[in-house]
Amino acid sequence: MRKKIAIIGAGISGLSSAYLLSEKNYDITVLAKSFSPNITSNRAAAFWFPYHIRNDKRGINWAKTSYTFYEKLAENASTGISIKTLTKVLREGVEEEEPIWIDFLPKATCKIIPKKDLQPGFKKAYEVLVPLIETQIFLPYLRQFLTNKNIVFKERVIDNFNQLSSFDIIINCSALGARELCNDETVVPVRGQVALLETDTTRPIYLDNEMPLYIVPRKDAMIVGGTYEENIFKEETQPATIEKILNNAYSVFPELKQQKVIGNWAGLRPYRNNVRVEHEVGTNIIHNYGHGGSGFTLAFGCAEEVMHLVEKLN
Ligand SMILES: Cc1cc2nc3c(=O)[nH]c(=O)nc-3n(C[C@H](O)[C@H](O)[C@H](O)COP(=O)(O)OP(=O)(O)OC[C@H]3O[C@@H](n4cnc5c(N)ncnc54)[C@H](O)[C@@H]3O)c2cc1C
Repeated sequence: MRKKIAIIGAGISGLSSAYLLSEKNYDITVLAKSFSPNITSNRAAAFWFPYHIRNDKRGINWAKTSYTFYEKLAENASTGISIKTLTKVLREGVEEEEPIWIDFLPKATCKIIPKKDLQPGFKKAYEVLVPLIETQIFLPYLRQFLTNKNIVFKERVIDNFNQLSSFDIIINCSALGARELCNDETVVPVRGQVALLETDTTRPIYLDNEMPLYIVPRKDAMIVGGTYEENIFKEETQPATIEKILNNAYSVFPELKQQKVIGNWAGLRPYRNNVRVEHEVGTNIIHNYGHGGSGFTLAFGCAEEVMHLVEKLN
């Protein structure tokens, strides 16, 4: 008999886990309180970049594995994934950040911009090739792909793992939901507010962690971010903050004033000091949550580890 697997959560962590497990012979059900577009995963920008995961050395391999997956997926335009140029800048007067993220990139995808070409005030800049994941396209694509593979989706709130006793294996991808489901208060919300401009997909992605400012030209909007507000539970934007984000963008790129402001949104990153990807000893539960601001960057690496943990339970 095929083993029955329950995956809690339909964000990128749950769907990428389902994607890899769908290649094996399992009977899979995804159970979630909410689905795309009403989840954090839709609020992500989302470009590949290892963000705030330096404490977690496992993140290097997860990010590398994910990069390879996205490169392959980008060959099919209907996934909504493309490989884009990202300009990453470092400002004068700021301590040199450890450029550890460069080690995460495949060879020949990184170019240092000569100092003479930098705008005043900048110390260093890189041009790197990274996957851009259009969440509004990729999440529905994944759901359809999985449905075609007979994976069942059910809207359901899980309050206790005992509710899933009819399953052989449970994979917990509940992100901030783990605060209650696992009584784990080490996973905390980090709010990100962003403004949306009329898009211009000819622009590169731009990232300045010091300002902080990022500009992500997707097909549906140009996302201009953003904030990193720890322990804020309200998923709402504040007009003064959105204005400040836009003014930051205009100060570096005055031409953006020509682009119409078309909206804004906020999302809660599920941050944990160490992403939890592990089998809980003595149970049939595998956890996969707490990816903070790097959920897409890490997703397929974590999903691959989940798949290995499932195989060990067999
Ligand atoms: C503004 C912003 C920009 C970002 N930009 C990027 C980026 O550029 N690159 C990047 O890699 N990452 C980015 N992120 C981070 C990324 O969005 C998250 O890391 C990622 O979405 C987390 O995915 P997840 O599947 O773990 O969680 P979620 O998307 O939150 O999904 C959790 C799922 O679990 C379900 N659930 C929770 N509790 C229960 C329960 N008790 N019962 C049933 N279901 C439950 C929810 O309904 C949902 O389906 C950004 C985040 C924000 C907010």
